[in-house]
Amino acid sequence: MAPKSTEANATVVRYEALVGCLYRIWVRPDWALGEAEWHAGQFVRLAIPGDDVKDARAYSFVDARDGVFEFYVVAVTGGRTSPRLQALRAGDRLWVEEKIAGHFVLEHNPPGARLLMVATGAGVAPFVCMLRNGAAPLAAYTSVGIVHQVRSPEHLAYGAEIAAWAQRDERARYVPVISQPSAPLHVVDGHAALTGHVQDHVPTGRLARQLDAPIDASTVVMLCGNPAMIKDMTAALEAIGLARHKKSKAGQIITERYW
Ligand SMILES: Cc1cc2nc3c(=O)[nH]c(=O)nc-3n(C[C@H](O)[C@H](O)[C@H](O)COP(=O)(O)OP(=O)(O)OC[C@H]3O[C@@H](n4cnc5c(N)ncnc54)[C@H](O)[C@@H]3O)c2cc1C
Repeated sequence: MAPKSTEANATVVRYEALVGCLYRIWVRPDWALGEAEWHAGQFVRLAIPGDDVKDARAYSFVDARDGVFEFYVVAVTGGRTSPRLQALRAGDRLWVEEKIAGHFVLEHNPPGARLLMVATGAGVAPFVCMLRNGAAPLAAYTSVGIVHQVRSPEHLAYGAEIAAWAQRDERARYVPVISQPSAPLHVVDGHAALTGHVQDHVPTGRLARQLDAPIDASTVVMLCGNPAMIKDMTAALEAIGLARHKKSKAGQIITERYW
């Protein structure tokens, strides 16, 4: 049974402030996590020690190798937990729930020839984790696309890493989407960027062209982050013949809502 309050059981080993409210934090739990016990795409709950467990929040692994968990977080203005996690520095203690959770993992995907991963903001975290740790399941796809929608180009954390991955693998494409560009924008980290909202580029065929791959019933689409993007993107995909994947009926669309 889950505890009602949270006791320190992990240490911050590194903190990195990024632009605006974004940060990365690396945490070493006192307890050991075996390699076989987690999959890229899963998450743990974090809390400030002493908080009620209801104030713990889920954060996706960016990585969980060698006993250190990496997270990529947006400090939500007025939020209960994410701004206080942002105040932690190396050596500070926190609570990490000793339970790895989540089904948003490559290993649970329905069959499909191509993979398309679409994130907003911090929703890119599980996909970066999959690029780093999911070589075997990713090998099953003839093409792998990552779309990352953010407000402005400086919010493309992990952009250089994703771009380098896309350059190494001929099946891979990286498509940044800038929703509020302040200037005309053509190329980000060597990759042509789209502007506006990702769902608007589905009916026009522009997203598929940018990915160099059709989006159809042979495409598995993983959506992560902002619930509005997930709703609108699901509708756009349904309009071209894809369906939500359910236990009872196989489809192509898998989702992870961050709120
Ligand atoms: C499975 C899962 C994995 C998650 N992984 C991550 C992660 O890797 N990184 C991350 O930053 N967050 C992640 N989240 C969101 C995270 O759990 C918290 O909801 C978020 O940090 C806000 O918590 P809070 O206590 O500060 O805000 P609260 O006091 O709980 O306020 C919540 C409100 O903040 C807003 N909100 C929540 N998340 C965001 C966001 N990312 N951007 C803008 N507004 C938001 C919503 O309006 C929401 O109703 C994940 C959520 C889930 C369910």
